Amino acid sequence: MQLSSLLQRFNEPETLKMAKLGRELRAKGVDVIDLSLGEPDFDTPAHVKEAAVKAIADNWSHYTPVAGFLDLREAACAKLKRDNNLDYKPEQIITSTGAKQSLANAILAVVDDGEEVVIPTPYWVTYSELVKIARGKVVEVKTSLESGFKITPAQLEAAITPKTKLFLFSSPCNPSGAVYSKAELEALAAVFAKHPNIYIISDEIYEYINFVSEHESIAQFPELKDRIILINGLSKGFAMTGWRLGYTASNVEVAKAMEKIQGQMTSATCSITQKAAVAALTGDLKPSKEMTEEFTRRRARVLELVKDIPGFKLFQPEGAFYIFPDISYYFGKSDGTTTITNSADFSMYLLNTAHVSSVMGDAFGEPKCVRFSFANSLPNIEKAWARIKEALAKLK
Ligand code: PMP
Repeated sequence: MQLSSLLQRFNEPETLKMAKLGRELRAKGVDVIDLSLGEPDFDTPAHVKEAAVKAIADNWSHYTPVAGFLDLREAACAKLKRDNNLDYKPEQIITSTGAKQSLANAILAVVDDGEEVVIPTPYWVTYSELVKIARGKVVEVKTSLESGFKITPAQLEAAITPKTKLFLFSSPCNPSGAVYSKAELEALAAVFAKHPNIYIISDEIYEYINFVSEHESIAQFPELKDRIILINGLSKGFAMTGWRLGYTASNVEVAKAMEKIQGQMTSATCSITQKAAVAALTGDLKPSKEMTEEFTRRRARVLELVKDIPGFKLFQPEGAFYIFPDISYYFGKSDGTTTITNSADFSMYLLNTAHVSSVMGDAFGEPKCVRFSFANSLPNIEKAWARIKEALAKLK
């Protein structure tokens, strides 16, 4: 009995694979420090938890509309107005079981067989795999550490062909931490203005975790807004990864298409989560701001700690909670037993020798880099980087 050919088209997420390997080592009694996963190590804000408890007591226990409760979609509109000065109506909002599902909905709604999807590297692992599931063609555009890991208007223009259907990016970016300024987005918008048949997915899930500026959305340019599928969610900004809530803001036609897809996949996300999400989106942002303040401290500390490590070429992250150094200096080096030939070897070496998990850059379209999260406590960060330093010193 053969399984479907779909399974051959895409890979399982490297981020989850590394976390699994780490868990397996931990189960054997090894003290593994996890710098692989992308989730805040904070508790969900109290007012959000209280709203969920109330929703349970009030018996919000039935199926919900596929797009989400109306009050939730209104809350998303209010948030987009408050934070981003964007005007959307509830019929333009589709809520889902996480930004990952929103991305899947959006890609499946617009990409057809063989159509090209331009994705600047480095990008979040799931982007390319979802495009492959949709039978689209991934067109990677290499950005570099020198260009701040951002695509230039000239690179964008050069990547566009008559087959281009979609451009897909995140700002702040996972894994690089790059944050596009208003001027940079405006320059990209000018290119898109010349190509009216391209959709743009703007993944803004790390919006609140920004160390350098106010968040800027590419949806602010009126001539583009109708073609933009803006993606956001509660996982990162509200420490709610397990609650599973994402949402899109788009034109009504795309929204209806995504609703149709989701209607056959998951119906909607959990009713209790939806009620809690209203409290998150319309409530006090103080807990989110405090979280970002803590990430700011950790970022500063990590940047100090890695200064002592030879051979790292590093972009200082402007947002999100990762550093993504180029570690190619170590390629060809060995501790006498293990030789590092690529970033996967490097990650595995650190897991086995330093007992610290990270994610190889290949997974993000940047084979010379490795991603280390700083969504872990300061004491763990100190311990992890001391171990990494010691393990790397053995490589000659
Ligand atoms: N986009 C990016 C860039 C992410 O890093 C993640 C989570 N790692 C997601 C989307 C998915 O988030 P969610 O938990 O809402 O599915």
